[in-house]
Amino acid sequence: MRTHDLERDGDAAMFDPAAFRLQHEEAELIERARRFGQSALAPRAARHDRDATFPLDNFRDMHAEGLLGICVPIADGGLGASYRTYCLAAAELGRYCGATALSWNMHVCSTLWTGALADELMMTVEERAEHDERRRLHYKRIVGDGAIYSQPFSEGGAAAAGTVAFGTEAKPVEGGFRVSGKKIFASLSGAADYYGVLCTERAVGADPSRRNTLYLAIPANAEGVAVVGDWDPLGMRATVSRTLLLRDVFVPEDEMLMPRGVYFRAATAWPHMFLTLSPTYMGLAQAAYDFTVGYLRGEMAGTPPVKRRMYPTKQIAVAEMRVMLEQTKALWFQAISEARANPTKAQVLRAYAAQYTVMENAHALAAKAIRTCGGQAMLKNLSLERIYRDSRCGSLMLPWTAELCLDRIGRDSLYEAGEKDD
Ligand SMILES: Cc1cc2nc3c(=O)[nH]c(=O)nc-3n(C[C@H](O)[C@H](O)[C@H](O)COP(=O)(O)OP(=O)(O)OC[C@H]3O[C@@H](n4cnc5c(N)ncnc54)[C@H](O)[C@@H]3O)c2cc1C
Repeated sequence: MRTHDLERDGDAAMFDPAAFRLQHEEAELIERARRFGQSALAPRAARHDRDATFPLDNFRDMHAEGLLGICVPIADGGLGASYRTYCLAAAELGRYCGATALSWNMHVCSTLWTGALADELMMTVEERAEHDERRRLHYKRIVGDGAIYSQPFSEGGAAAAGTVAFGTEAKPVEGGFRVSGKKIFASLSGAADYYGVLCTERAVGADPSRRNTLYLAIPANAEGVAVVGDWDPLGMRATVSRTLLLRDVFVPEDEMLMPRGVYFRAATAWPHMFLTLSPTYMGLAQAAYDFTVGYLRGEMAGTPPVKRRMYPTKQIAVAEMRVMLEQTKALWFQAISEARANPTKAQVLRAYAAQYTVMENAHALAAKAIRTCGGQAMLKNLSLERIYRDSRCGSLMLPWTAELCLDRIGRDSLYEAGEKDD
């Protein structure tokens, strides 16, 4: 590779459209996200990270760019991105600002899950008609008004891991529900216009059941909604993931993001829906590698033009980083390419493996980047130390934490459905 090719490499698309055989429209959309990440997100990332402020400016610009509606169907005024196209675009944004990409993921999922994903789920004719009518309401708010949705489901108990019913409960009442509960780590808290809350519908006297999970859009200004607590974490600081309290909040029936019972069906039949936290971290992995190459070549803005690439130890470290990056990208690309309803067991295990690999390797690459580049590279005026802190968060994210992925890969590799040991 010649010198000028290497220079361009640091700025190139993560997944070359020709090499990865991307469709033309898909590649165009991803390229749009990449340019937006470079021009809008990168210059603001350090300030939002330092101050732990939500990047509303980025979200306003994303509205103008059409990116808030990336997964809204074209017929509803959106860009109509598929699951894979979204993942690849999100990885490009994650390269330039992890916290914006992660927050954007929470917003986009409210359209992806109700859109392309729901289109592949079994629904009765009545459910489908109800769903189509209601989702149009949300899409109109997003595309027309730039409304921002978030996705708080974590509660600090076992529900976010998908093992028990959510403790946040919706009591059916005339015209809708009365919702009460608490959500922790509610990214976009205080900034979102609607909180896409997962809760358990529970009539008086009924037992809580995961089958009765409701997915509701709760207006941020509804009576009984409050955001409380501090937010001063290690990484992903600009997600502003504070605690959301819901006290007897009336939510009209039309705010249902999915018909009754359909969220449970989605979680069972479309498991890749939980892989959508990984693109941000795929982008951070690439960013750690790009930083290292740029730094060792003496090309990093804000640093003296000192080259360090001639040392064999640096060359070996970069080679190891590249091998790890290519392995991560290859597995992840395969997993996001085969996402669909009712995947095979092997595809689900591969999705867990991809999530585990991306989340663990993003941080491993960032740690190696610091060791390889050296002390001056971890000063706060450069992006690497933010990448290091942000990438630390990936393997903690429920429902597919790194631990839970290993747990499921091990168990499901050794046991077929229904098998037990005597
Ligand atoms: C930057 C950031 C942003 C976030 N944004 C959001 C958001 O927008 N919406 C949202 O809902 N959540 C969000 N989360 C929350 C996240 O998904 C976790 O719920 C949160 O980190 C709390 O996890 P915990 O480790 O304290 O959970 P705990 O439940 O205490 O789990 C601790 C660990 O135990 C393991 N564990 C948990 N349950 C089981 C089980 N059943 N079996 C075996 N092992 C288990 C897991 O590996 C887990 O890491 C965010 C987290 C971060 C770090």
